[in-house]
Amino acid sequence: MTTAQAGVVIVGAGPAGLVLGSLLLNRGIDCVILERRSRAAVEGRARAGFLAAHSVRVLTENGLAAGLRAHGRTHTSCLFRSDLGEFTLDYAKSGEGEAHTVYPQQQLVRDLVAEYLRRGGEIRFGAEVAEISEGAVRVHDGTGVTARYTAGCDGHRGVGRAALTSRGIRTARWDHGVSWLAVLVAAPPSMEAVGYALHERGFAGHMARTASVTRYYLQCPRGTDPADWSDDRIWAELAIRLRTDEFGPLHHGPVLEKAAFDLRSDVLESPGAGRLWLAGDAAGLISPSAAKGANLAILQAELLARALEGALAHGDETGLARYPADCLPRVWRAHEFSHWMSGLLHGPAGQDDKARYGRQLQYARLESLRTSRTHQDFFAENYTGI
Ligand SMILES: Cc1cc2nc3c(=O)[nH]c(=O)nc-3n(C[C@H](O)[C@H](O)[C@H](O)COP(=O)(O)OP(=O)(O)OC[C@H]3O[C@@H](n4cnc5c(N)ncnc54)[C@H](O)[C@@H]3O)c2cc1C
Repeated sequence: MTTAQAGVVIVGAGPAGLVLGSLLLNRGIDCVILERRSRAAVEGRARAGFLAAHSVRVLTENGLAAGLRAHGRTHTSCLFRSDLGEFTLDYAKSGEGEAHTVYPQQQLVRDLVAEYLRRGGEIRFGAEVAEISEGAVRVHDGTGVTARYTAGCDGHRGVGRAALTSRGIRTARWDHGVSWLAVLVAAPPSMEAVGYALHERGFAGHMARTASVTRYYLQCPRGTDPADWSDDRIWAELAIRLRTDEFGPLHHGPVLEKAAFDLRSDVLESPGAGRLWLAGDAAGLISPSAAKGANLAILQAELLARALEGALAHGDETGLARYPADCLPRVWRAHEFSHWMSGLLHGPAGQDDKARYGRQLQYARLESLRTSRTHQDFFAENYTGI
C-alpha cells in the first residue's frame, strides 16, 4: 500500500468534512480529505438550504461566508396552512428567534471546496475509503493515509460510523413512520416564507432555494416509487395540499429532481473514541422536518476542530475527551425539536377512532402555536437555535 502522512485524515467532503478541513488549516494543522465521489458530483448534490444564525457566524468568523453573504437570502418567518386557514409566524421577532439564511447546500459546498484548496488543503476526489483502523485509512485503490487522528465525516452510511459501532458503541434510533417525496423544481418560490401545509391527504412543504429554484415535499406512502409521480401528478397534489384555490396558485416549472425517502433519526452514544472522531450525519442522522442536519454538521465540525487543535498543537487531549459531552446535549435538543415538529406536520393516516383522535391533537398543537405567545417563543428559539 502506498501511504501518505497527515495530522488529520478527514473522510468525506460534505459540509462537516469541508468546514473541519478549513478550520484545521486556519489553525495550522495539516490534513487531507478523502472523498469517494468526483468533485462535480459533490458540488452538484442538492440537499439542504436553511442555515441557522449560528452556522452563519461560524462560517463568517472563519472566512467561509463570502458566497452566502453575497447570494444567500434572509428568511424570518414561516407559514402554516390547514383546515384552520393560514397563519404566518414571524420567528425572528419572537423570543430568542433569529433569521435563517437560505443558501443551497451545493453552493455552500462549492464555496468550501474552493476556499479549502485556496488555503493549500489537499482533497482526493474519487478516493473511497474501504477501512479505518487505528491511525490509518485504506482506500479502495490500494493507497492509504496514516494520521494521528481520523475524522469520519462520511455521512450516516459511512465507514467511520461502522468502525465505531464495530467497537461496541451503540446507536439510539427512531423511525418516524413517515416518507417524503422530495422534489426540486425550476420555478421561483411561490411564497415569501417556508410553507407547511397540514392536510388529510398528508403533509406538503414549500422551501425557497434560489430566485429560480424551489424545493417541495409531499408526504407519501412507504415504498413510493418516484417514477409513479409525473410532473402533472406532483403539481396537482401540491395544489390540493397547499390549498391553491384558497391562497393562490404556485409558480410552475420543470421538475429537476424527485426522490423518496423515509424520515429516520439516530444518534451514536458517543461521536468517537481514541483516534477516530465523527462529525455530521456520521455521528447522527436527523430527519429533515426542522432543517437541522447541515447545521449540526457545522456545529460539530467547529467543536471538533477546536478539540483536535488542542491535541495536535498542544498535546492536550482533554478537548477530545470532552467532545462527546460538548456535542450530545445540543444534538439531542435538536432531535427533540425535530421530533416535535414531525408530530406537528404529520397526522395519522386513516379514518378510525385513533386516527381521528391523533388528528385533533395535531390541530390543537397548531392552534396553540397560532395563538400562544409563549408557544411561539418556544418554537422560535428551537427552530432557529442550534
Ligand atoms: C432532501 C434533504 C433536505 C435537507 N434540508 C436540510 C436543511 O434545509 N437544513 C439542514 O441543516 N439540513 C438539511 N438536510 C440535511 C443535510 O443535507 C445533511 O445533514 C448534511 O449533508 C450532512 O453533512 P455531512 O457532511 O455530515 O454529510 P454528507 O453531506 O452526507 O457528506 C458525506 C460525504 O462523505 C462521502 N463519503 C461517504 N462514504 C465515503 C467513503 N467510504 N470514502 C470517502 N468518502 C465517503 C460522501 O460521498 C459525501 O460527500 C437535508 C437533507 C436532505 C436529504
